[in-house]
Amino acid sequence: MNAVDPIAAEAANLFASVYGGSPEGVWAAPGRVNVIGEHTDYNEGFVLPMAIDRYTVAAAARRTDGRLRVVSAAGDHQVAEVALADLSPGVPQGWPQYPAGVAWALRGGGVLPDDFAGADLAFASTVPVGAGLSSSAALECATGLALAGLAGARLSTADLARLSQYAENEYAHVPCGPLDQLASAFGQEGRVLFIDTRSFQITAHPFDLAGAGLTLLVADTRVSHDLGESGYPARRASCEKAAAALGVRALRDLAPADLDRAAAQLDEVTARRVRHVVTEDARVEQFVSLLTQGAPAGDRLRAAGELLTASHRSLRDDFEVSCAELDLVVDAALEAGAHGARMTGGGFGGSAIALVSVGDARRVGERVLAALPQAEIFRAIPARGAHRVG
Ligand code: ADP
Ligand code: MG
Repeated sequence: MNAVDPIAAEAANLFASVYGGSPEGVWAAPGRVNVIGEHTDYNEGFVLPMAIDRYTVAAAARRTDGRLRVVSAAGDHQVAEVALADLSPGVPQGWPQYPAGVAWALRGGGVLPDDFAGADLAFASTVPVGAGLSSSAALECATGLALAGLAGARLSTADLARLSQYAENEYAHVPCGPLDQLASAFGQEGRVLFIDTRSFQITAHPFDLAGAGLTLLVADTRVSHDLGESGYPARRASCEKAAAALGVRALRDLAPADLDRAAAQLDEVTARRVRHVVTEDARVEQFVSLLTQGAPAGDRLRAAGELLTASHRSLRDDFEVSCAELDLVVDAALEAGAHGARMTGGGFGGSAIALVSVGDARRVGERVLAALPQAEIFRAIPARGAHRVG
């Protein structure tokens, strides 16, 4: 079944019941799974995400009084309202700051014309919220496309991603890197995206899971530890300090061969942070060569799985952004025969992924549930990025 249509219908129904009438258009943007390359995007390094078949949909219509109204099926159905002229970071509070921030960024970036006179937006979503699958980027990208679409304004995919990230950083005050918004904006059906976050060059590689007899399982642990609030900026700061101390622009500029020298100049904890980032960049490149080279399928599979698991161990031990629930899920998946497994997203809770043979998927899912009964488990496929639905 089409992953977008039911959720588009829900958004249109919400629009009709809250605002009356029909939306002028409906736009969708997906969540994402980062296959490998974690905490590298703010170090100008490599990431390998795919958009997933979980979408946030905006049903929207123009207004004439300069106001922006938003409502979400995920919340309490309360309408938040703000005049475009009053948009400034922090206004309004709570989830509406994400769509409000995108409107602010689009106005500031000259995408929305000065005479754009407001909009009503209604959101529905199948992206789990706060699960490390980028519901925030999906919300931003759906908003950006909707507002530009209503205004008849040109908005490139790169600008959609850039302005959405800008809104999240500067309006919602979440210091995320560019990964989530790039994945939601540029996602392609059946492909993963190799992204160099220094040059912003994106290469889409076929990721034919079904053709290889594979399934990608996602396990949402349904926990989000408070530590994430402080842990993420602290990791960023530590990476920036390390780069400065080592005399490089970003940790991306170090190779594994530089790690001994780096360790000699840094304290023990910082040296481990650096080792994670540098080895993770190398793992992304190895994963991509496995996707593109002609080695026997079985060998490639084993090697790809090992890279995922090595990524998890590095995030757990060197970068220290995993948590007990994520470790439980990863260990259970591996014990049940997954080819590889790792946390995905920023960590401190959220989701893990496991690469499994199709025939093992049920057993792996059951074992993960036995280890963490509250987990929500589903299969994800590489899906199309942000687009207009109707
Ligand atoms: P993630 O992006 O990993 O899901 P974040 O903490 O970055 O987690 O973003 C989650 C926040 O985004 C929520 O707390 C909420 O404010 C907002 N959000 C995301 N999707 C929706 C939605 N469909 N409706 C309302 N708010 C949403
Ligand atoms: Mg987010």
